[in-house]
Amino acid sequence: MTVASILTDKGREVVTAGTDTSLSAIVETLSERKIGAIVVTDEDGKVCGIISERDVVREIAERGVETLDQPVSTCMTRKVVSCGENDTINHVMTLMTRHRFRHLPVVSGGRLTGIISIGDVVKRRMEQIERDAEELRNYIATA
Ligand code: AMP
Repeated sequence: MTVASILTDKGREVVTAGTDTSLSAIVETLSERKIGAIVVTDEDGKVCGIISERDVVREIAERGVETLDQPVSTCMTRKVVSCGENDTINHVMTLMTRHRFRHLPVVSGGRLTGIISIGDVVKRRMEQIERDAEELRNYIATA
């Protein structure tokens, strides 16, 4: 199963924000959209960072709530790891495990075309395991 097949299922909308967006606006969007991370883009629409709820929690713990007035660029992760549409779920799981994050923007032809969360991966993996088990049950029943 590929990243493209997940995106076909879940859609390709990605919630993004500009580098000047305040952290309080980021928090509002995370809450309103019920998501865990927002991709940060520059004036050309290119991915230049990612901010997750973990970054916001850490920032508030270290600097206090005043930090919410700061732009997202002050605490986003700048070195963003992404995947491609043809990558497999196994590859995505390996990246998330190795780097210890739960979100992976999808970039295709230099453009942001989706985002995969660990929840998306677990859901598809569970469905696949269920299908495999069902096939095995049918095979045994008819053997
Ligand atoms: P998460 O587990 O996705 O909430 O993120 C944990 C940490 O990894 C936070 O500091 C995020 O900014 C960072 N992070 C999340 N996704 C990515 C990614 N695809 N590439 C690089 N850093 C990321």
